[in-house]
Amino acid sequence: MSIPTQYRRDTDAMQPRFRGVNLSAFEAIRGRFYPAALAFLGLAGCSGGLPDKGAFAPYVSQYPAPISVTMPASAPTITQQFRAPDVGSLKGQKWSEHNGLDVHAPVGTPVISAAPGRVTQSYLDPAYGHVILIEHAKGHQTRYAHLSERIAAKGDSVARGQKIGTLGRSGALSGGFPHLHFEFWKTTPTGRRATDPHEGWIDGVGQVTCYTLRRRAPRTFGLTYPVPCQ
Ligand SMILES: [Zn+2]
Repeated sequence: MSIPTQYRRDTDAMQPRFRGVNLSAFEAIRGRFYPAALAFLGLAGCSGGLPDKGAFAPYVSQYPAPISVTMPASAPTITQQFRAPDVGSLKGQKWSEHNGLDVHAPVGTPVISAAPGRVTQSYLDPAYGHVILIEHAKGHQTRYAHLSERIAAKGDSVARGQKIGTLGRSGALSGGFPHLHFEFWKTTPTGRRATDPHEGWIDGVGQVTCYTLRRRAPRTFGLTYPVPCQ
Protein backbone atom coordinates (compact mmCIF):
# COMPACT_ATOMS: atom_id res chain seq x y z
CA MET A 1 0.00 0.00 0.00
CA SER A 2 1.19 3.49 -0.69
CA ILE A 3 0.02 7.01 -0.15
CA PRO A 4 -2.35 7.85 -2.98
CA THR A 5 -0.91 10.44 -5.31
CA GLN A 6 -3.73 10.88 -7.73
CA TYR A 7 -7.22 11.99 -6.83
CA ARG A 8 -10.36 12.05 -8.85
CA ARG A 9 -12.85 14.88 -8.41
CA ASP A 10 -16.58 14.52 -8.50
CA THR A 11 -17.61 15.47 -12.03
CA ASP A 12 -20.80 15.73 -13.96
CA ALA A 13 -19.29 13.35 -16.46
CA MET A 14 -19.45 10.49 -13.97
CA GLN A 15 -22.13 8.17 -15.22
CA PRO A 16 -24.45 6.50 -12.71
CA ARG A 17 -23.57 3.09 -14.04
CA PHE A 18 -21.64 0.15 -12.74
CA ARG A 19 -20.51 -2.72 -14.97
CA GLY A 20 -22.92 -1.57 -17.60
CA VAL A 21 -25.89 -1.39 -15.25
CA ASN A 22 -27.78 1.85 -14.77
CA LEU A 23 -27.75 2.20 -11.00
CA SER A 24 -30.56 4.73 -10.98
CA ALA A 25 -32.84 2.21 -12.65
CA PHE A 26 -31.65 -0.40 -10.22
CA GLU A 27 -32.42 1.87 -7.26
CA ALA A 28 -35.91 2.53 -8.57
CA ILE A 29 -36.86 -1.12 -8.38
CA ARG A 30 -34.71 -2.07 -5.42
CA GLY A 31 -37.24 -1.15 -2.77
CA ARG A 32 -39.95 -3.42 -4.15
CA PHE A 33 -37.98 -6.24 -5.67
CA TYR A 34 -34.80 -6.27 -3.64
CA PRO A 35 -33.65 -9.88 -4.16
CA ALA A 36 -34.53 -9.78 -7.84
CA ALA A 37 -32.68 -6.50 -8.25
CA LEU A 38 -29.61 -7.93 -6.58
CA ALA A 39 -29.72 -10.93 -8.89
CA PHE A 40 -30.08 -8.57 -11.85
CA LEU A 41 -26.91 -6.74 -10.82
CA GLY A 42 -25.07 -9.99 -10.26
CA LEU A 43 -25.84 -11.18 -13.78
CA ALA A 44 -24.88 -7.88 -15.39
CA GLY A 45 -22.08 -7.65 -17.91
CA CYS A 46 -18.59 -6.49 -17.14
CA SER A 47 -18.04 -3.63 -19.55
CA GLY A 48 -18.71 0.07 -19.38
CA GLY A 49 -19.88 2.14 -16.44
CA LEU A 50 -17.84 2.76 -13.32
CA PRO A 51 -14.27 1.49 -13.30
CA ASP A 52 -13.24 -0.93 -10.54
CA LYS A 53 -11.24 1.73 -8.70
CA GLY A 54 -11.25 5.45 -8.03
CA ALA A 55 -14.95 5.99 -8.77
CA PHE A 56 -18.22 6.29 -6.93
CA ALA A 57 -21.90 6.09 -7.69
CA PRO A 58 -23.89 9.32 -7.36
CA TYR A 59 -26.22 10.00 -4.48
CA VAL A 60 -29.77 9.16 -5.47
CA SER A 61 -31.40 10.89 -2.53
CA GLN A 62 -31.24 14.61 -1.80
CA TYR A 63 -31.79 14.07 1.93
CA PRO A 64 -29.51 14.59 3.68
CA ALA A 65 -27.76 16.83 1.17
CA PRO A 66 -25.27 14.81 -0.92
CA ILE A 67 -21.65 15.17 0.13
CA SER A 68 -19.04 16.22 -2.42
CA VAL A 69 -16.78 13.17 -2.62
CA THR A 70 -13.09 13.00 -3.49
CA MET A 71 -11.86 9.50 -4.18
CA PRO A 72 -8.24 8.29 -4.35
CA ALA A 73 -7.63 6.68 -7.75
CA SER A 74 -6.45 3.50 -6.03
CA ALA A 75 -9.52 3.04 -3.83
CA PRO A 76 -11.99 0.31 -4.83
CA THR A 77 -15.15 1.88 -6.25
CA ILE A 78 -18.18 2.84 -4.17
CA THR A 79 -21.27 1.41 -5.86
CA GLN A 80 -23.91 2.79 -3.54
CA GLN A 81 -24.04 5.85 -1.29
CA PHE A 82 -25.66 6.47 2.06
CA ARG A 83 -29.37 7.27 2.41
CA ALA A 84 -30.74 8.38 5.76
CA PRO A 85 -32.95 5.87 7.61
CA ASP A 86 -35.78 8.39 7.92
CA VAL A 87 -35.82 9.51 4.28
CA GLY A 88 -39.06 7.79 3.44
CA SER A 89 -41.06 8.80 6.46
CA LEU A 90 -39.81 12.36 6.87
CA LYS A 91 -39.24 13.57 3.38
CA GLY A 92 -41.64 11.52 1.33
CA GLN A 93 -38.91 10.32 -1.00
CA LYS A 94 -39.16 7.05 -2.84
CA TRP A 95 -35.71 5.78 -1.90
CA SER A 96 -35.36 3.20 0.79
CA GLU A 97 -32.76 3.75 3.46
CA HIS A 98 -29.18 2.63 3.01
CA ASN A 99 -27.27 2.84 6.28
CA GLY A 100 -23.79 2.84 4.80
CA LEU A 101 -21.55 2.64 1.76
CA ASP A 102 -21.12 -0.29 -0.62
CA VAL A 103 -17.56 -0.90 -1.76
CA HIS A 104 -17.09 -3.28 -4.66
CA ALA A 105 -14.00 -5.49 -4.82
CA PRO A 106 -13.27 -9.15 -5.59
CA VAL A 107 -14.26 -11.86 -3.13
CA GLY A 108 -11.37 -12.43 -0.74
CA THR A 109 -10.18 -8.82 -0.68
CA PRO A 110 -9.03 -7.97 2.87
CA VAL A 111 -11.50 -5.97 4.95
CA ILE A 112 -9.63 -3.75 7.41
CA SER A 113 -10.66 -1.88 10.52
CA ALA A 114 -11.48 1.77 9.76
CA ALA A 115 -10.23 2.93 13.16
CA PRO A 116 -8.75 1.41 16.33
CA GLY A 117 -11.29 -0.33 18.52
CA ARG A 118 -12.66 -3.54 19.93
CA VAL A 119 -14.81 -6.17 18.22
CA THR A 120 -18.11 -6.29 20.10
CA GLN A 121 -20.11 -8.47 17.69
CA SER A 122 -19.26 -11.13 15.14
CA TYR A 123 -22.20 -13.04 13.72
CA LEU A 124 -24.06 -14.48 10.73
CA ASP A 125 -27.22 -12.61 9.68
CA PRO A 126 -29.74 -13.85 7.06
CA ALA A 127 -29.67 -10.53 5.18
CA TYR A 128 -26.24 -9.08 5.97
CA GLY A 129 -24.34 -12.35 6.00
CA HIS A 130 -21.14 -12.51 8.02
CA VAL A 131 -20.96 -9.29 10.04
CA ILE A 132 -18.37 -7.73 12.33
CA LEU A 133 -19.13 -4.75 14.59
CA ILE A 134 -16.31 -2.68 16.07
CA GLU A 135 -16.69 -0.22 18.95
CA HIS A 136 -14.38 2.81 18.78
CA ALA A 137 -13.62 5.83 20.92
CA LYS A 138 -16.48 8.16 21.87
CA GLY A 139 -19.05 5.40 21.42
CA HIS A 140 -18.67 5.37 17.64
CA GLN A 141 -19.11 2.07 15.81
CA THR A 142 -18.33 0.63 12.42
CA ARG A 143 -20.07 -2.39 10.89
CA TYR A 144 -18.77 -4.60 8.09
CA ALA A 145 -21.27 -6.86 6.30
CA HIS A 146 -21.51 -9.54 3.56
CA LEU A 147 -18.06 -10.83 4.52
CA SER A 148 -16.96 -14.17 3.11
CA GLU A 149 -14.88 -14.84 6.20
CA ARG A 150 -14.70 -13.34 9.70
CA ILE A 151 -11.16 -13.27 11.09
CA ALA A 152 -11.46 -11.01 14.14
CA ALA A 153 -13.33 -12.54 17.08
CA LYS A 154 -15.62 -10.93 19.62
CA GLY A 155 -13.50 -9.24 22.30
CA ASP A 156 -10.47 -8.70 20.06
CA SER A 157 -8.74 -5.35 20.14
CA VAL A 158 -7.98 -4.22 16.60
CA ALA A 159 -5.67 -1.56 15.24
CA ARG A 160 -6.48 0.79 12.40
CA GLY A 161 -5.87 -1.08 9.15
CA GLN A 162 -5.89 -4.52 10.77
CA LYS A 163 -7.45 -7.27 8.66
CA ILE A 164 -10.71 -8.37 10.31
CA GLY A 165 -12.18 -10.46 7.51
CA THR A 166 -12.49 -10.85 3.77
CA LEU A 167 -14.93 -9.27 1.36
CA GLY A 168 -17.68 -11.52 0.06
CA ARG A 169 -21.29 -11.92 -0.92
CA SER A 170 -22.78 -13.66 2.12
CA GLY A 171 -26.36 -13.09 3.25
CA ALA A 172 -28.97 -11.77 0.81
CA LEU A 173 -26.25 -11.15 -1.74
CA SER A 174 -25.86 -14.75 -2.80
CA GLY A 175 -27.22 -13.78 -6.21
CA GLY A 176 -25.59 -10.36 -6.33
CA PHE A 177 -22.19 -8.90 -6.97
CA PRO A 178 -19.66 -9.03 -4.12
CA HIS A 179 -19.22 -5.92 -2.02
CA LEU A 180 -18.54 -4.69 1.47
CA HIS A 181 -21.49 -2.96 3.13
CA PHE A 182 -19.81 -0.51 5.53
CA GLU A 183 -21.68 1.43 8.22
CA PHE A 184 -20.61 4.22 10.58
CA TRP A 185 -22.66 4.75 13.74
CA LYS A 186 -22.06 7.94 15.66
CA THR A 187 -23.02 8.67 19.24
CA THR A 188 -24.71 12.04 19.51
CA PRO A 189 -26.46 13.82 22.39
CA THR A 190 -29.74 12.34 21.14
CA GLY A 191 -28.46 8.79 20.79
CA ARG A 192 -26.62 6.59 18.35
CA ARG A 193 -27.46 7.02 14.69
CA ALA A 194 -26.31 5.71 11.33
CA THR A 195 -24.12 8.36 9.75
CA ASP A 196 -22.80 8.81 6.23
CA PRO A 197 -19.24 7.42 6.40
CA HIS A 198 -18.18 10.31 4.17
CA GLU A 199 -18.65 12.52 7.25
CA GLY A 200 -15.98 10.61 9.15
CA TRP A 201 -12.83 10.40 7.02
CA ILE A 202 -9.56 11.53 8.63
CA ASP A 203 -8.81 13.88 5.74
CA GLY A 204 -12.17 15.63 6.10
CA VAL A 205 -15.79 15.37 5.00
CA GLY A 206 -16.04 13.66 1.61
CA GLN A 207 -12.26 13.11 1.44
CA VAL A 208 -12.03 9.32 1.19
CA THR A 209 -8.88 8.47 3.15
CA CYS A 210 -6.90 5.34 2.33
CA TYR A 211 -5.15 3.49 5.12
CA THR A 212 -1.36 3.60 4.95
CA LEU A 213 1.25 2.45 7.44
CA ARG A 214 2.92 5.82 7.36
CA ARG A 215 -0.16 7.81 8.26
CA ARG A 216 0.06 9.40 11.70
CA ALA A 217 -2.77 8.86 14.13
CA PRO A 218 -5.28 11.71 13.94
CA ARG A 219 -5.82 13.92 16.96
CA THR A 220 -9.54 13.42 16.75
CA PHE A 221 -11.58 10.39 15.73
CA GLY A 222 -11.46 9.60 12.04
CA LEU A 223 -12.10 6.79 9.60
CA THR A 224 -9.89 5.25 6.95
CA TYR A 225 -11.18 3.25 3.99
CA PRO A 226 -12.24 -0.27 5.07
CA VAL A 227 -10.44 -2.02 2.20
CA PRO A 228 -6.82 -1.54 1.05
CA CYS A 229 -6.08 0.93 -1.74
CA GLN A 230 -3.38 -0.37 -4.02
ZN1 LIG B 1 -25.07 -1.67 1.35
